[in-house]
Amino acid sequence: MIEISNLQKCYGDTKVLNDINVEIKKQDIYGLLGVSGAGKSTLLRCINGLESYDEGSLKVNGVEVKDLSENELRGFRKNVGMIFQNFSLLERKTVYQNIALPMECWGYKKSEIDKKVKKLLDLVELSDKINSKPNELSGGQKQRVAIARALTLDPQILLCDEATSALDPSITNSILSLLRKINKELGITMVVVTHQMNVVKQVCNEMAILSKGKLEAKGRVEDIFLDKPDVLDELLGHSQHSFTSDNGIDIEIIDRNGSQKGSLLSSLAIETGVQYSLVWGGMDKYRDKVLSNFIINIKEEDKINVIKFLNDKNVEWREA
Ligand code: ADP
Repeated sequence: MIEISNLQKCYGDTKVLNDINVEIKKQDIYGLLGVSGAGKSTLLRCINGLESYDEGSLKVNGVEVKDLSENELRGFRKNVGMIFQNFSLLERKTVYQNIALPMECWGYKKSEIDKKVKKLLDLVELSDKINSKPNELSGGQKQRVAIARALTLDPQILLCDEATSALDPSITNSILSLLRKINKELGITMVVVTHQMNVVKQVCNEMAILSKGKLEAKGRVEDIFLDKPDVLDELLGHSQHSFTSDNGIDIEIIDRNGSQKGSLLSSLAIETGVQYSLVWGGMDKYRDKVLSNFIINIKEEDKINVIKFLNDKNVEWREA
């Protein structure tokens, strides 16, 4: 649905997007992570045609965005909704009027607007705030209004620029649940720009990490967190596992698909007779999937036995 290849963008002499290659499929929720200044928002603005790019290709539904005329761009943007960290609502207008605005600009009939706004208010669970002004709403409610407004023209794509960064954790969770519901029920493809790890883990299926305008890692969210590329450590500000031991061998047991049985470690002890110590263990949730991963420490002489056991059981492992 969105194909980006060898994309380059400069502001003056500074290259802010450098050889970006990304493919976003229909109904993906694609996370774009990176520290401030990495180029995430610039890439998002290239996707909706608000910014042009210098080299490479950016196609949405097979159409090269750079080649669109001003008039075509207007029609193209109808297909791409956007929400922001600061909600961008008009303070003097009511919730109803804010949501109705894009349809009014496009000259829809009043009855059609009325039907659509009420349907969207129901979707974002704000029907009781229909006549409220933004200053009477909480941050989470304001973002719900912004989401409804972004959906009025039936876009196929929703771009979310740090949409939950100004919200507290419980409100963030409710907005993320709403985004997943919209993705599932309306089949909308989403690109989620964020610096919050929990956001990508909760809603995204695929992700990419940008650093200084370069795309340093991309793939399934769980694979990125399990493979721990250096750029992820940079983003987290620390190494993910500093729990290694001084003696023996540390073996990391990896579960990518939630298929690992809870009894694996006790089977290991029973079947091999090897005594291990648990160095690190953790469960992580990715969307609806829970993955359990461990690091165990064993003696050098037990290594062959343990590795044979893990290989026989088709369990992925690596020396930590
Ligand atoms: P992020 O969204 O990851 O924080 P941005 O895409 O906003 O990063 O910015 C990437 C880089 O481009 C930064 O160095 C920023 O200063 C620069 N930049 C962004 N917009 C402009 C602009 N309109 N003119 C000049 N430089 C810009």
